[in-house]
Formats: sequence, C-alpha cells, structure tokens
Amino acid sequence: MNYRHAYHAGNFADVLKHWVLVLILEHLKQKPAPFRVIDTHAGIGCYDLSSIEAQKTGEWLDGIGRLYGPGVSPALAETLAPYLALVDGLNPDGDLRLYPGSPLIAQALMRPTDQLIANELHPADRETLEETLAGAGNAKVLGLDAWVALKSLLPPKERRGLILVDPPFEEPGELDRLVTGLAAAVRRFATGIYMLWYPIKDLGPIDTLHARLSGLDLPKMIAIDVLIDAPDAADGFNRLNGCGLVIVNPPFGLLPQIARALPELTAVLARAPGGDHRIANLGSEMLAIDR
Ligand code: SAM
Repeated sequence: MNYRHAYHAGNFADVLKHWVLVLILEHLKQKPAPFRVIDTHAGIGCYDLSSIEAQKTGEWLDGIGRLYGPGVSPALAETLAPYLALVDGLNPDGDLRLYPGSPLIAQALMRPTDQLIANELHPADRETLEETLAGAGNAKVLGLDAWVALKSLLPPKERRGLILVDPPFEEPGELDRLVTGLAAAVRRFATGIYMLWYPIKDLGPIDTLHARLSGLDLPKMIAIDVLIDAPDAADGFNRLNGCGLVIVNPPFGLLPQIARALPELTAVLARAPGGDHRIANLGSEMLAIDR
C-alpha cells in the first residue's frame, strides 16, 4: 500500500468525484428517512495543500485551484456552490489551504440521524481519519479491507444509502475487482446508490470495463468519463488523462444536473485542447440524460 492521496488531493479527479458526491448527498437528503454512506477507501479525510506532498505535485492547482479562477459561468458556479462552500468552510481566512476528502464531505452534509461508515485499511491513515472525524456522532471509522467491507457491511439497516468505492489503482487487476466487487455488493443491496471511481490512461481498458459492467445486467447504471487530455500511445499511456465514475441507481434528476455542467467543467479542468467527456448508459434501462 504505497498510494498516498495527499499527493493528489484536490486534483481534477477529486473535483469530479467530490462534486458528484455532494450532488448525490443532496438528493438523499430530500427525503426525511435516514440513510447510510459507506466510504470503502476513505483516506485521511482532510488534506493540507501546503504540505510537502501536495506541493511536490501541485495537482490541486489544476483541480480545485481552477474553480476559483475567473471565467466560471454563473450556471457552473451554481452547481458547484454546495461543494465549494464546504471547501470554503475549511478555509475561513480565504486562503485555499485545506481540502476535504470524501468522508469529511459526507459527514459535513449528513444529518445526525444518518450514518457514515468511513473505511481505511492503511493503519496510519486510519488514525488520522479518526482524528479528522473525532466528535462526529454520526460517523464510524473502520479498518477493513475494502472488498471485505463491501460484503460484510451490506445491506445497511437503513436500506437506503450511498456506497463510494474509490480504490488507489496501484495493483494490476483493480478494474476487474471493481466489476466483481460491484456484482457481489448489489447481490446484497440491490437498491443502493453506488459510485465507483476509476482512472483513465488509455480508453481501451475503459471500454472493456464498460462492457463488463453492462454484462452485470443491472437496470440503472451510467458511466461518466472526463478526459482532461487526449490519451496518447506515444507516451505509453502512462499519464493519467482522465477519470470516470460509475453510478448505479442514480437519484432522479442527478443525470441532467451532471450533463448540463460537464462540458464547461471539462473545459475548465482540461490540460490541453484534448479535453472531452462522455456519459454512457450501461444499464438495461435507458436512463434519460437530458440537458
Ligand atoms: N476516497 C478518498 C477521497 O476521495 O478523499 C480518497 C481515497 S484514496 C484514492 C484510496 C485510499 O484507499 C487510500 O487512502 C488507501 O490507503 C486506501 N486503501 C488502499 N487499499 C485499500 C483496501 N484494500 N481497503 C481499504 N482501503 C484501502
């Protein structure tokens, strides 16, 4: 386990994932019934963008850093507002220094009756996560292997909620594990909302991933891919050129929100003119992705 999210916190991939996470949580909160969020790969919960790690890559400058620049349209600003309000809340003096990870974002938006399970396998990161979430009565930290957690924690007693699966992709076969992990999870909790993150270096393996996900024959599933640069065989497909999210059982109204904002968000985050995005229906029901 060499992956340290501190090097990548607040980058374009975090922006996409955390913006959509906030949108899903807002949908879940439209009903009074309590829900559960299970964050299988939680990280440490809060990141210091002035740390040696973050400064070394500077990735956040081309992620969250770009959302504060001029030129963001009022429509994009509106959809990003609840997400950016959380970031701003961590930085009351106006300087962008702290950046929230997925468990802190979830916990901040959840009600006292909702329950967050934040799972992190790395022992030191788990300790830091415990400190980040200390005092939050609606949050519990676990240290299980994520794929074990996915099986043992489902279904949640609330029978409503979001499962976020955000692996580090440092070992071969993690795209396959995403498919088998999702298949096992939906057998236990078919009505849950699932959000799975994956990196894009080369589109070939992603098309295979989409085909395998389609083969699960789940009714409602979409994939959102954002490319900040065109994948290039000349560099051996070694660079992270984009990332994607698979959403199973997206809340009603979520897809148009995403589809409306994605062209501009992609343009804001793009590294080069090769920026692009696509939304694919992978489920057996054709979901409307109207703008
Ligand atoms: N979800 C976090 C966020 O958005 O703020 C970032 C998570 S980071 C991409 C992946 C995390 O998974 C790392 O903190 C890593 O230590 C942890 N991890 C790696 N393998 C794991 C496993 N098998 N089970 C649980 N956590 C694992």
